[in-house]
Amino acid sequence: MSDHRPAVTARAPAKVNLLLQVGPVRDDGFHDLVTVFQAVSVHEDVTATPAADWGLTVEAAGGADVSGVPLDGSNLALRAARLLAERAGVDEPVHLHVRKEVPVAGGMAGGSADAAAALVACDALWQLRTGLDGLATLGAELGSDVPFGLHGRTAVGTGRGEQLVPVLTRGSFHWVFVLDPAGLSTPRVFAECDRRRGPGWGPPPADVRLEAVEAALRGGDAEALAAALSNDLAEAACALAPQLTRTLAAGRAAGALAAVVSGSGPTVALLTASAASAQDVVAELVPVVGQGRLRTASGPVPGARVLEALAPG
Ligand code: ATP
Repeated sequence: MSDHRPAVTARAPAKVNLLLQVGPVRDDGFHDLVTVFQAVSVHEDVTATPAADWGLTVEAAGGADVSGVPLDGSNLALRAARLLAERAGVDEPVHLHVRKEVPVAGGMAGGSADAAAALVACDALWQLRTGLDGLATLGAELGSDVPFGLHGRTAVGTGRGEQLVPVLTRGSFHWVFVLDPAGLSTPRVFAECDRRRGPGWGPPPADVRLEAVEAALRGGDAEALAAALSNDLAEAACALAPQLTRTLAAGRAAGALAAVVSGSGPTVALLTASAASAQDVVAELVPVVGQGRLRTASGPVPGARVLEALAPG
C-alpha cells in the first residue's frame, strides 16, 4: 500500500475544432481527419489519491449534467490510469475524483480531457516521469482526442486527430458555448456524415481552408478566423439534432462573429470579437436559451498539467 503518498490533482482543457475536415472511412473504422483544435478555458480536474482499490467519483461543476458519465471501468479516466499502471508496472491502485465542467457527449472532448488529466495526475503520483510524448502515445490508445488534451494550446491534428503539430497563434480568442441538454453520440454523427455522402466519397480536398485558419491564428484576427471556421460534421449533427440550426442562427443574431457546431455537437461554439462582446452575446442569448446553457471561455490554454500536490491528512 502507498497511502503515505499525497493526492495529486491535474487539470485538462476542453477543445473546440476551428476546422474539421472529414475524409473517407478507413479500413480500421476511423476517419482520416484534418482538424485544428483549440484548447479552451472549460476544464476537467482529476484528483488521484492512493487507495486500497481502483475507484472513481464524479462531481458536477458549473452546472454540468454528469448523469451520462459511466462510473465503472469503462470510464476513460479510470482506463487511462489503469493503462499507465499496467505499462509502467505499477501496482498501486488509485481513487480518481473527476470534477467536470465540460458538457458530457457535447463535442468538446470532456472524456478525453479526463483521460489526459488522469494520465498526468497518476504519472506525477507514481513519480514515473513518462514525459508528454510518452503519455500522448498511451493516450492515443484510449481515444483520438486524448493526445490533444495533453498538449493543449492550438494544433493541427491529422490521422484520426492524434497526430499533432502546434500552430502559432497571437493573443486570445473569446468564445461563447451554447450547451444542448440532448448530447450526441460521436460515432452516430460520423455514420450520418458517411450516409449523407454515399459510397465512393473521396479524400478531403487540398488545404485552402487550413491555410486560412492558420493565417487568421497567426495574425490574432478574430474576424478572419470567423470567416475561416468550418466543420464537415455540422450538417450531419444538425440532421440528428434539428434544434442546432436554430441555435446557430440565434448565436449569429446575438452578435457573434461566427457560429459553428463544436466537433460532433451538439454544443454550439460562438466566436466573438472580445471578452466584452462575449458578455454582450450572452446577455442577448439568456432570454432565448436560458443562462444555464451558456458558458464563456477563451483559448488557447495549456494542456493537462498538475495543479497541486496536497499533503496527506
Ligand atoms: P468527443 O468530442 O471527443 O467526441 P464528447 O465531448 O462528445 O467527445 P464525451 O463527454 O467525451 O463526449 O463522452 C462521450 C461518451 O463517452 C459519454 O457519453 C460516455 O458514455 C463515455 N465516457 C467514458 N468516460 C467518460 C468520462 N470520463 N466523461 C464523460 N464521458 C465518458
